[in-house]
Amino acid sequence: MPELPEVETVVKAINRSLESMTIKRFIIINSKLRWDISSNIPKLVKNRKIENIYRRGKHIIFKLDNGYILIHLGMTGIIKFIDTIDAKNRGKHDHYQIELKDNKILKYNDVRKFGSIHWTENIHDHFLIQNLGPEPLSKEFDSIFLKDKCRNRNVAIKNLIMNQNIVVGVGNIYACEALYMSSIRPDKKCKYITLKQCDDLVKSIKFVLKKSIKSGGTTLKDFKNLDGAPGYFKQKLMIYDCKICKCGVEVKNIKLGGRSSFYCNVCQK
Ligand SMILES: [Zn+2]
Repeated sequence: MPELPEVETVVKAINRSLESMTIKRFIIINSKLRWDISSNIPKLVKNRKIENIYRRGKHIIFKLDNGYILIHLGMTGIIKFIDTIDAKNRGKHDHYQIELKDNKILKYNDVRKFGSIHWTENIHDHFLIQNLGPEPLSKEFDSIFLKDKCRNRNVAIKNLIMNQNIVVGVGNIYACEALYMSSIRPDKKCKYITLKQCDDLVKSIKFVLKKSIKSGGTTLKDFKNLDGAPGYFKQKLMIYDCKICKCGVEVKNIKLGGRSSFYCNVCQK
């Protein structure tokens, strides 16, 4: 599943690859995604200028001169960057394509159909965006912010940091890794987390995400050579899916919020 670093990598790749910033047309190939693709999108975006492409949480946002396109990759979404000449070769799971003035095409493919695309005039009021917490790499996400969110809460710290309304983009693997680095058990109740632990945890979350973005950036040199595959880069993990901790003890795996949560009974308290 694409996580924040993969989405960041895709956004960077699109920005690098895009030459024309005007949309010639938008074609719906198969509207069945998590939400049906609105039949209004082709006329809303036709001949519109792309002013900016950026990420918010795990959403890819195209700022147009009349509104915003909001793309989510779901579980298996892939954006391919192709020449017009290849456009007729439709894949079984292609859902839409954005044709640019220079005849380059961004094509969206999604095997499991959990992705989505929306157009909106005001991004901040959009139902997928309005309740999102701050970006994990922003200054706003700091120890005082996290401590404030932890206060009087009975929920496990891992569930809190994975809650998109608290902070966006901390997926399961990153949550496990950051908690391990901070020596905090994933099931520790938020109300018992100290300010010092919040500080360690915030630093660890930023560290694992930055490291992953960096490795994505180096793996992915040219979007076109990728054959459409986003940066699902493998990295060395310290605790997630590991058998033995570096202290020599067997790694535990418990379910929290239905997700596998790996931790070390000795190193994490
Ligand atoms: Zn250990």
